[in-house]
Formats: sequence, C-alpha cells, structure tokens
Amino acid sequence: MEDIKLSCNSMLDDDKVFITLALSISKKSKCIKRQVGAVVVKMGRVVSTGYNGPPAGNYNCNKDFFETGCPRTSSNGCSYALHAELNAIVFAYKNNIDLIGVTIYITLSPCIDCAKLIYITGIKKVVFLHKYSEYKKLDKEEGIEFLETFGVTVYNFSTEKIPIL
Ligand SMILES: [Zn+2]
Ligand SMILES: [Zn+2]
Repeated sequence: MEDIKLSCNSMLDDDKVFITLALSISKKSKCIKRQVGAVVVKMGRVVSTGYNGPPAGNYNCNKDFFETGCPRTSSNGCSYALHAELNAIVFAYKNNIDLIGVTIYITLSPCIDCAKLIYITGIKKVVFLHKYSEYKKLDKEEGIEFLETFGVTVYNFSTEKIPIL
C-alpha cells in the first residue's frame, strides 16, 4: 500500500482551478482597457465572483463609448467601473456570506483601495496572476505591500502554469 501516492499536489491544483476560473470570468467584462476577474473561495467552494465594470444595469463601456473610450479618472482608470474584487466582495455581502478566512483569486493584483477592503472583510489569502503595478506602470505594488503588512497571505500564481495564456 505504501506505493500508492496521489499523483497531484492538491493545493496547487485548487489554485490553478480557481485562477483559471477567474480568468474565464474576466472575459465577461465590458471594459475597453483591461478585463479583470475575481473568484471568492470558501472552504474549497466558489461563493462569489466579479469582474470589473460599471454597476450592473448601467453603462457598457465597449458599446456606449466605443469611439471615444469611457471618461477617465485622474489615475487614468474608468470613471464608472467598480473593480472586480469590489464587485465580488459586495455580492457576497449582499447575500450574507461571511468572508472571514476566505481566499480571493484575482487576475490582476489589487489596487490600494481594494487591498484595504480585502483586509477589513477578513479575507486571509489573495492569489493573483498579473501585477497591477506593471499594468499601471507604477514603481510599487501598493496593494500587496498593504496586505502583507497586515498579515494577509499573498501569492503570485505563475502565468506559465496556465497553458491557455
Ligand atoms: Zn469604462
Ligand atoms: Zn481595486
């Protein structure tokens, strides 16, 4: 019986499953510039998802601002969009899902505001794919630094582990 071993590392597989799901969900975003997806996992199960965009039922940036692009914030973000992780967290709250101790999978690392939100909701682990600082050409990962300072585990999932990228 000693020879029988599980052929996979189950922790790693979970991360791959959920980050791949976050990537699929990001494709639902109507954002012109960047599609971001988030998946909230509690005890091994998906309890909420989100993608970046204006509040549900409002603008679709890719249709409504097809030629001009949507109005920009001072940091060159979409004026109307909520970030993917914010949408995922708000959905969970509206549905009375306790987020203490859960893991959030995001295709882009959190901005500083989302990092603060992640921390105060009690999320314990953040797994992300791409770096917000690279996308925004910032010299610091402010969100990740904030999370690590406050004891949230942060893990950068390698894009090389996802064959479809
Ligand atoms: Zn927009
Ligand atoms: Zn954010």
